[in-house]
Amino acid sequence: MPKAKETVLEIDLKSLEHNYRFLRSKLKAETKFLSVVKAFAYGSDSEIVALKLQELGTDYFAVAYAKEGVTLRKAGITKPILVLHPQAVNFEALIEHCLEPSIYSFGILDQFLATVQEKELDHYPIHIKFNSGLNRLGFGEKDLQKLVSRVQDNKSISVVSVFSHLAATEDKNEEEFTRNQITLFEQLSSVFCASLNIQPIRHILNTSGILNYGDAQYDMVRSGIGLYGYGNDPKIDVQLKPIATLKTIISQLHQIDPSESVGYNRAYFSKTNRTTATLPIGHADGIGRQYGKEKTHVLVKDKLAPIIGNVCMDMIMIDVTDIDCKEGDEVIIFGPQLSAHQVAKTADTISYELITGISQRVKRVYIP
Ligand SMILES: *Cc1c(COP(=O)(O)O)cnc(C)c1O
Repeated sequence: MPKAKETVLEIDLKSLEHNYRFLRSKLKAETKFLSVVKAFAYGSDSEIVALKLQELGTDYFAVAYAKEGVTLRKAGITKPILVLHPQAVNFEALIEHCLEPSIYSFGILDQFLATVQEKELDHYPIHIKFNSGLNRLGFGEKDLQKLVSRVQDNKSISVVSVFSHLAATEDKNEEEFTRNQITLFEQLSSVFCASLNIQPIRHILNTSGILNYGDAQYDMVRSGIGLYGYGNDPKIDVQLKPIATLKTIISQLHQIDPSESVGYNRAYFSKTNRTTATLPIGHADGIGRQYGKEKTHVLVKDKLAPIIGNVCMDMIMIDVTDIDCKEGDEVIIFGPQLSAHQVAKTADTISYELITGISQRVKRVYIP
């Protein structure tokens, strides 16, 4: 890859392929694979990434909102797309683009039924979401009989999957809770399917679920973060490859004398002579203010340099006193060389937040 000449998010499709094959290798041959590509494929690029995953043979896609699914259809995605959190206001677009809603409440069920019936549609594919303890979206045990009766004999819809979402698959201390979630899902989905005499796809595992609770893979798994190269576990992280590298360059170097300050609100004061570098990336690009004030480091010539002072909207300043570098040199914010998980930790957050937060202002470039 040529050296960066501006701030770019480099996306390596070979690493994506590696991660996909790694995750698949943890599954039975017959288990379907749903690729979660919501939020611009976790901050990368949903179209390029989904097209690659479609080519690799993923069985299903999921997005959070209908609009994200429309983007995928326009990019040429023909595989089924589950919309995890549809809103009634987008049902027209959802149906027009053959997107499949997660039905998680009677409210959303009634509104969806009204729409498909008005359009006189037959067997429109839907997914039933059960709440097994995350307490975010989904039907509970108390809803089961009413849900069965609402779905029964209704020809306008067809339940193609039933699923639930686990709250703490990456946390071994929550194994008992997770097992209870899986048991509850087993019960709810079994009663539901038996009552309707249907055999839809069942699925509950996310990435860490695949890695820690493989016996509960059912007919399909849903993976997001693992595809992008993070496994929520150091032992797994070494086997995955981060697909995205956030790179920038040095715009200007400054010599700072003792007692001079750097940046807004004079948040950094030098005690000695320092060399600082100004980089063209800031909180508007997704590097929040919590990464400033020497908490977080970036990589310059394979050496760590702290972000000093306050993160600005369009720039950060770093201390490169001990690094032999010049204007125009490349700087790595995160990537395979400096894990987004590690960087995120310095600001008390998780890789998910850091990578999905890289704004659309940052140019995406691809390694095929
Ligand atoms: C985002 C999401 C996933 C993907 O989880 P990862 O931890 O990124 O693998 C799976 N299922 C649901 C319902 C989600 O919202």
